[in-house]
Amino acid sequence: MPRQDVPQSVIALTISGPPVWCWQQHMRTVHCQQVATTQFHLVAMSASHEQYMRQALTEAKKSPPKPTNFCVGALLVSPSSDPPVLETGYTLELPGNTHAEQCCFTKMANRFGVSEEEIGHHLPGDTVLYTTMEPCNLRLSGALPCADRILRINEGGKSGIRKVYIGVKEPEKFVGENEGRAKLEQAGIEVLHVPGMEEEILNVATAGHEKGG
Ligand SMILES: [Zn+2]
Repeated sequence: MPRQDVPQSVIALTISGPPVWCWQQHMRTVHCQQVATTQFHLVAMSASHEQYMRQALTEAKKSPPKPTNFCVGALLVSPSSDPPVLETGYTLELPGNTHAEQCCFTKMANRFGVSEEEIGHHLPGDTVLYTTMEPCNLRLSGALPCADRILRINEGGKSGIRKVYIGVKEPEKFVGENEGRAKLEQAGIEVLHVPGMEEEILNVATAGHEKGG
């Protein structure tokens, strides 16, 4: 790979052993000699968690602001797939009072001509979910909460979603304390926080809400 094509993200350098992580800047200065003389392969890694979370936030921004909703964005990602982003979704993308994760799952189901609970059969084994806000555990509309949708996919499919990356916890505005994270963790799903975008995510999420109240 020509030097100028090396992406800005992290790259992995394997020199007869486990991958050594180094930044591009580092590569150019410290490891250039080594690169020239040692058998190695250079692997452009898939985007970082921050990049995926930012893409989920871009989805969230498409959501029409409403006082009764949080504008949330979600992605289904399989890091080993090409392209890695399998599906996207945002709040109210599909007709009805639809949530971001739900839209992701429904769009995937439609693409494969199966029901939502069957999409696990079509998900690569390394599929993870990125969502700007913790998946909901209670919906005032009575619709199935997104945490339950994730569990249902895992029960119905051969693989499923084993990790959920979240940008922020759900604020206690509509339904009180959200137990979505606890429910997922009890079912053996890892819930991981991607820090650094909380303020931006909450600004987008509450775009349609009355401010200062
Ligand atoms: Zn939800």
